[in-house]
Amino acid sequence: MKFESYWHDTASKFAGACVDPVDGRYDVVVIGGGFTGLAAARQLAKSGARVAVLEANHVGWGASGRNGGHLNNGLAHSFIAAKAELGKERAVALYRALDDSIDTIEKIVAEEKIDCDFRRAGKLKLASKPQHFDAIARNFEAVHREVDPDTALLRADELKTEVGSPFHGAMLSKKSAMMHMGRYVVGLADAAVRHGATIFERASVTRHTVSSAKHRLETSRGEVTADHVLVATGAYTSGASFNYFRRRIIAVGSFLIATRPLTAAEVAATMPGNRTCTTSMNIGNYFRLSPDNRLIFGGRARFAATSDQRSDAKSGAILRASLAQIFPQLANVEIDYCWGGLVDMTKDRFPRAGYVDGVWYAMGYSGHGAQLSTHLGMIMADAILGKADRNPLKGLEWPAVPGHFGKPWFLPLVGLYYKTLDRFQ
Ligand SMILES: Cc1cc2nc3c(=O)[nH]c(=O)nc-3n(C[C@H](O)[C@H](O)[C@H](O)COP(=O)(O)OP(=O)(O)OC[C@H]3O[C@@H](n4cnc5c(N)ncnc54)[C@H](O)[C@@H]3O)c2cc1C
Repeated sequence: MKFESYWHDTASKFAGACVDPVDGRYDVVVIGGGFTGLAAARQLAKSGARVAVLEANHVGWGASGRNGGHLNNGLAHSFIAAKAELGKERAVALYRALDDSIDTIEKIVAEEKIDCDFRRAGKLKLASKPQHFDAIARNFEAVHREVDPDTALLRADELKTEVGSPFHGAMLSKKSAMMHMGRYVVGLADAAVRHGATIFERASVTRHTVSSAKHRLETSRGEVTADHVLVATGAYTSGASFNYFRRRIIAVGSFLIATRPLTAAEVAATMPGNRTCTTSMNIGNYFRLSPDNRLIFGGRARFAATSDQRSDAKSGAILRASLAQIFPQLANVEIDYCWGGLVDMTKDRFPRAGYVDGVWYAMGYSGHGAQLSTHLGMIMADAILGKADRNPLKGLEWPAVPGHFGKPWFLPLVGLYYKTLDRFQ
């Protein structure tokens, strides 16, 4: 078994990074080479701005190269809860932004000819318990009527041609998609460079200062100056003095395993519908087939703030047991990959994007950002360029998490809370 992201292992490496020392004057410096940063860099470069990306590791090293591969439209929250928390106007705007995100990615993939198996697969939110189906049905009613007619409610017997496991019904979101995340992130980086962006890898920003309205960003490989800075570091925010974000982003591990390629008979018995799937438990699971028919199966597994080989292996064992529970027919299947990554959670699980303390930012996707990060990166690029502001999150308050200074000491308590909820709800 490889302790490596399937997406990293099965994509070609990005070969367009600048190997010269980090140096120069730019209009915009983007910190972070994931979907947010690369989409912003591409958009800025297309508009003629001089733009550099500073990435601490390699392109796609963070969540963008480690996720579950789902491009789900609509909100991860119940739409009813989102309306109650955000008000109807913003909840609808955010839902639409997530819808638009899938269109944006589809367009980029076509324009830049990125070979990443993008496919409008549709997403199933599966009811793990009978009472969960009632909640899903209520949410479906509101979504279908108010914001997304491309949805359907499936009863348990209608799921037989979708998933080979006895769930209690599901909501189908037809616009949702899936793609190969590793090939997309490298394709996005290649496109940004083709349009004129400079990407520096292994260039962790260790210090950020501002004088006379010029930003200075220091890395171990040299330093650059810029008129504008976009912080796109998500759950991996580190190095420079970005305490504002560390007090608001809670980095939580999420973990995945991938089986060996399944036979046609095994696919027919487990995932005949070939869609992206999530379960309705608080500590739930998400799964899909890979382009080569592996079952990519993920979940929070443990409330850990780390993802390294030891932590990933512990979570992998828990995921394997969950996989066997959902799909007993795959209980003994070989697991070829096990990996994990950090999710940039916010307290209310809504993302944030805007301008604070002289820097632009977009982050806090809370495990539902594989699609929105590309879209929001482009929206923030347009805002930096002074174009029409399309930010659906503009002005949304973002208080610091009380008692949180970067290390989420409270995660085990949160885990216990959700475990208890899952037992009784
Ligand atoms: C295990 C897992 C499963 C997920 N599954 C899904 C899914 O199926 N569907 C979905 O919609 N979303 C999913 N997500 C979330 C999604 O992947 C993220 O929301 C998205 O990739 C965020 O992209 P980003 O560019 O903002 O951040 P990232 O991709 O995390 O990029 C941030 C980058 O910043 C760099 N960095 C940090 N500090 C510095 C510094 N000081 N200097 C320079 N660089 C720095 C890091 O090295 C990193 O590469 C998942 C996330 C994880 C971890």
